[in-house]
Amino acid sequence: MTAGPDADLRAQLAARLRLLQGFTDFLPGPPLPSPPAEALEAISADLDGCTRCRLSEKRKTIVFGVGRPDADLMFIGEGPGRDEDRQGEPFVGRAGRLLNEMIEKCFQRRRADVYITNIVKCRPPGNRNPEADEVATCLPFLKRQIASVRPRVICLLGSVAVKALFPGVRGIGAARGAVWEFAGIPVVPTFHPAYLLRAEGERLQQLKREVLDDARTALEILGRPQ
Ligand code: SF4
Repeated sequence: MTAGPDADLRAQLAARLRLLQGFTDFLPGPPLPSPPAEALEAISADLDGCTRCRLSEKRKTIVFGVGRPDADLMFIGEGPGRDEDRQGEPFVGRAGRLLNEMIEKCFQRRRADVYITNIVKCRPPGNRNPEADEVATCLPFLKRQIASVRPRVICLLGSVAVKALFPGVRGIGAARGAVWEFAGIPVVPTFHPAYLLRAEGERLQQLKREVLDDARTALEILGRPQ
């Protein structure tokens, strides 16, 4: 009896199955976490057209974040202002220019090397502080940004950012001078650049010295071996 076409087909199928069994050794286990850039893109896509809180009513643009997706240093402010709302990028007005200066002169980084975002992604009308429910609604997206970037240090800018991540802390005056921790990441609070813009004379010089102290603390942590 000859093997015939059916036997050939069965032999080919058996060979293919053996090949596939070999490949099962290489099948992936649990999915690996996405690279930071992809993870951030996915969060941004989830926020597209967001109307989860009332800040959506008057905003022009959702201001998501900017900078290196794998930055070792992340700055978090309170929310977009008028210029940011127009341009869709955080910290681009006067306060943004001062933040750039702080980043370069105090934190020894370039703006492009850090990641910058805010507690809320839409401009509160009239630049008021975001309300507690607005912060609570937007905060999960910030937490996802932090989990994606995984910076080695977070620098919180001002009282709104401090109170959003550490409810119960009265504000920047009570928070700065110490290193906090959020999601296992060291947190260094410092003054919001808009606060420095409102100060003058000896008070301004004192605030600058304090920002420099905070930056030194952040740099000391960044300088530690990983
Ligand atoms: S502030 Fe955040 S939660 Fe509120 S509408 Fe904007 S993106 Fe959505």
